[in-house]
Amino acid sequence: MVDRILLTEDGRVFQVKDQDAHTQFGVVKLADIKKAKLGSTVKSNTGKEFIVIEPNFLDLFKKIKRGPQIIPLKDVGAIIAETGINKESKVLDAGAGSGALACFLARLVKSVTSYEIRDDFADIAEGNVKKLQLRNVTIKRKDIYQGITEKNLDLIVLDLPEPWQAIKHAHAALKPGAFLVNYSPTTPQVGDFVNQLEGFTHIKTIELIEREWDVKGRKVRPKSQGIGHSGFLTFCRRL
Ligand code: SAH
Repeated sequence: MVDRILLTEDGRVFQVKDQDAHTQFGVVKLADIKKAKLGSTVKSNTGKEFIVIEPNFLDLFKKIKRGPQIIPLKDVGAIIAETGINKESKVLDAGAGSGALACFLARLVKSVTSYEIRDDFADIAEGNVKKLQLRNVTIKRKDIYQGITEKNLDLIVLDLPEPWQAIKHAHAALKPGAFLVNYSPTTPQVGDFVNQLEGFTHIKTIELIEREWDVKGRKVRPKSQGIGHSGFLTFCRRL
């Protein structure tokens, strides 16, 4: 594994594996990338310039393998900010899906356990955990509707079709005062989840809308395309 990536002037990022880097702007020789000083420039065979830098976590995270749809960064940010998780926290999420949320949280907390019922998705999630070299994530091939074996958890995040089926198990697994967060794309799911809460207080349900803007010269305005729907976040605390 080569610990370097290529950055273009307009912010595109290209990963470097153990071979020449093939980009839409031509080929950059691996030998050139390896001998370049960090921050210096290399050229492809077509003359395009790339800056050689060290990848940060996000560069690698953005290239993870996708199975099911992953949770967007705006929603990950809210989960972190609204629950106060930190390097002492023990977290569980379900379903693992591509493992995106599990991997992101693992960088910040003590440990993450992630349940997934589908073997093919569990394989993808495990592959991503390995690629990101995270040692504190455990992917378990388990149905969360059947129960949670972990105890004394600080946070559980649900991202699955029938989150209300996990409420009772989450209650048994969380510390008093700990957070349960549900992420659902549709309003009937949100209603059914909140209406079936027992032993939790419903703090709030939010939808985060991120609107990206063009900033080019004096053309400073919202982009004409964008804003798709992702999901509703419901924050609850165990009583
Ligand atoms: N948050 C994930 C995406 C989750 S997609 C990410 O950021 O990558 C939802 C996943 O839940 C799917 O992979 C699905 O197989 C899984 N799932 C559905 N029901 C489940 C259950 N009862 N227990 C565990 N996983 C479940």
